[in-house]
Amino acid sequence: MVRKSLCLVRGSINNDEYFHVKSLVRPGQTIYSKGFSRRAGGKGANQAVAIARATLRSQDENADHGPCVEFEGSVGDDGTWLLDYLAAFGVSTARSHLVENATGRAIIQVAQDGENSIILFPGANHALIPLPSTLDPKYTHLLLQNEIPLETTVHYMRLSKSSRLASASNGSTVTTIFNPSPLPSSVELASIPWDCVDWLIVNEDEALALLESFSADQTDSGLQTPSPSANRDEDTLRSLLNQLSNHPLFSALTNIICTRGARGVVALAPSIPKSGKDEPVYVSLPAATLSGPVVDTTGAGDCFAGYFVCGLMELTSGIYGNDLESILQRSVEASGMCVQKNGTIDSIPLRADVEPRMK
Ligand code: ADP
Repeated sequence: MVRKSLCLVRGSINNDEYFHVKSLVRPGQTIYSKGFSRRAGGKGANQAVAIARATLRSQDENADHGPCVEFEGSVGDDGTWLLDYLAAFGVSTARSHLVENATGRAIIQVAQDGENSIILFPGANHALIPLPSTLDPKYTHLLLQNEIPLETTVHYMRLSKSSRLASASNGSTVTTIFNPSPLPSSVELASIPWDCVDWLIVNEDEALALLESFSADQTDSGLQTPSPSANRDEDTLRSLLNQLSNHPLFSALTNIICTRGARGVVALAPSIPKSGKDEPVYVSLPAATLSGPVVDTTGAGDCFAGYFVCGLMELTSGIYGNDLESILQRSVEASGMCVQKNGTIDSIPLRADVEPRMK
């Protein structure tokens, strides 16, 4: 029997406050802002909404399919609107926590020349929440980022692995996807149980920083020193991803998705059997052909991650014709649409608008 896909996103949620200024405020200076807007943000919230926006809807919009994505995060009294906002996109927030801390907040100055500066206050995202002892077997997918305490993220990774071992006999496993952004410090990176991760989603700089960090105290490992991203051709990147994927810290079946901004995406997927060849599936796709100028790249990575995870969920549900390449293609098209609009959550396109762009 095919399981209904359900993803738990355990992550961050923020009040993002934008101040539009002539130029960024200098030390000791007080300036007026010419505009102000408040938006929902946080990588966990962004990616949960992206999964909901990427979900295929039936013709009958009134049919009750139940939410396919649940968000677990924490807000204070000043952030309950954020949970309502997520719910309006079809994200279930029943697992989220109302805590005494103020909600996480990003204070973002955007100058006339496009430059920005951001103060990030983690607030409720770092509130102490009791950690569960098991992961509900109803979840087929678990999506994690790095804007909540690393101990929590690591705990959920370990839960996913133990629930996988416990349920191996009945096939109800959970697929864990980790987008380690912003990248943890080298010391923190060493504490992550990488073998619990099925899919790693990183951008090019993060992939290289990971490799550098892993090879820092392994001078005998034969790992190459990564070249600066501007000079890196695709063959070099592929070989670096191979080195990362073969690192003993990873499981032999950990798949890596590496996004490359305007250069598209590459993926190395050892968990996908490739007939006749003893090497992992490798896919490389250019970025989407844009119909207009790039307006705002904020949140492109989150849009990509949500669409990608939704594609994995459809694989679990046995939706016909969804292979890795078409999942990546849809994610590339969606994130390409995202960079042509302002905002983060507001710029994540609806699946119905992405689908016509698929060849
Ligand atoms: P992050 O925001 O996490 O650093 P990237 O910058 O790699 O992630 O962007 C994620 C995806 O968004 C890319 O793989 C690409 O498909 C799309 N994208 C980002 N920037 C552009 C761009 N300038 N033009 C077209 N697509 C883009």
